[in-house]
Amino acid sequence: MKKPGLGILVKPVSGDCNMACDYCYYRPAKALYADVRAPRMAVQTAEAVCEQYLALGPARANIGWQGGEPTLMGLDFFRQVVEIERRHTRGDAVPANTLQTNGVALDDEWCRFLAGNDFLIGLSVDGPSELNATRRFANGKPAFGAAMRAMGLLKSYDAEFNVLVVISQANAQRPRRVFDFLVENDLHYAQVIPCTEPGASAGTVSEHSVTAAQYGDFMIALFEAWLENDDPSYYVRSIDNWLHLFFGLPAESCTHRQDCHNLLTIEWNGDVYPCDFFVEDRYRLGNVREQTLEQMLRGPAFRQFLREAESVPKPCTGCEWLRCCHAGCYRHRRKLGIGDDQRPYLCEGDKRIFGHVFRRLRETMDDPARPRLHAFLTHLGQAVAARLAQPLEGQPGPPPAPAGTQTEGGVDLGRNDPCPCGSGRKRKHCCGRVAQAPYGG
Ligand code: SF4
Ligand code: SF4
Ligand code: SF4
Repeated sequence: MKKPGLGILVKPVSGDCNMACDYCYYRPAKALYADVRAPRMAVQTAEAVCEQYLALGPARANIGWQGGEPTLMGLDFFRQVVEIERRHTRGDAVPANTLQTNGVALDDEWCRFLAGNDFLIGLSVDGPSELNATRRFANGKPAFGAAMRAMGLLKSYDAEFNVLVVISQANAQRPRRVFDFLVENDLHYAQVIPCTEPGASAGTVSEHSVTAAQYGDFMIALFEAWLENDDPSYYVRSIDNWLHLFFGLPAESCTHRQDCHNLLTIEWNGDVYPCDFFVEDRYRLGNVREQTLEQMLRGPAFRQFLREAESVPKPCTGCEWLRCCHAGCYRHRRKLGIGDDQRPYLCEGDKRIFGHVFRRLRETMDDPARPRLHAFLTHLGQAVAARLAQPLEGQPGPPPAPAGTQTEGGVDLGRNDPCPCGSGRKRKHCCGRVAQAPYGG
């Protein structure tokens, strides 16, 4: 069995962390291993994971190291991981490693290693100090200083990194300030993800979570700030996905493409789950020490998860945005107790976002008032049309799609093509590279 699109998220310390953020979504996973004081992945387990994963022939092997806080494993573990990956790599395609971190442990030695081994780092910070209050240590001290120190180090070693911003009640009212923070700190790569955690009682959300309206307002204002800034070198993952959809290409993120097939999560002891948000007994697929990933992917538990996760709730049937939204991420339904006869939690926000963003992209293409984005979008449109006119080898070429419509053509901008943002780098080293990360770290 080959699984070319598969990526894996590995949790070598489970939910263990040297911080204690109020909104931490992964803390509940610790309850699964409550009898283990400090879960740590054995090197033999890491080897089984790498071997089984690479045997599935991923086209762009991508191993995401997350937690909790994965740096708690110590640097020697990751040195061994890199050796293991080299041993099991067939041909030249050494896996791309990503590491999601809060930055607390990063020092010169870590940064030298991460930069020297081409790790892509995801650094968690929710904006400037006053908006980062949810991120804190167990003694209540704020974590902003630690994140900024790590950011400075990563820059000084020229390590590739992006920032992960969670929208919570701490920053939801200040999207412009968050975007300004990115620009002021020369942060050209960002992911922005809403906090939507279940509350104490059924059908509620936690006090840190945002409403669908807040999510929509935030993302629209962030997008407007991006337009106003008129600089396509600022990459925000959601905006990149909207651009894909606008130009009729499949989105990159699983949330925007109804694709729950391609991102397994593997816990410290080798337990495998279908998704980072479904690390629960009920969804456990098996363990790499007892079965192979291939057996788990073929097994009934995974098929059952896919049936659930990729189902379309009744209110989404016939929605004009279904091919962009795909009813959103399944966690925004199942985790929040929303049934198939109800609208997904973020529906109101998603509808407004798609309507607003697609209209504004069209306007920006038609109007050179923002010259750099106008040129960028025009260039992207031409690149997409050329790509669609020349189908990739072995792929049927769908007819060119007019901008602003959606197709399911199964084509992508080439990873080795010049990045359409105009940076001069290959897309795989530029806008096409981002840590696969839900929030955490
Ligand atoms: S449930 Fe959500 S995060 Fe998980 S794979 Fe599906 S779309 Fe992605
Ligand atoms: S916008 Fe709302 S109704 Fe439409 S597909 Fe998304 S969640 Fe469903
Ligand atoms: S959100 Fe990240 S940094 Fe904060 S406690 Fe959770 S794992 Fe640790």
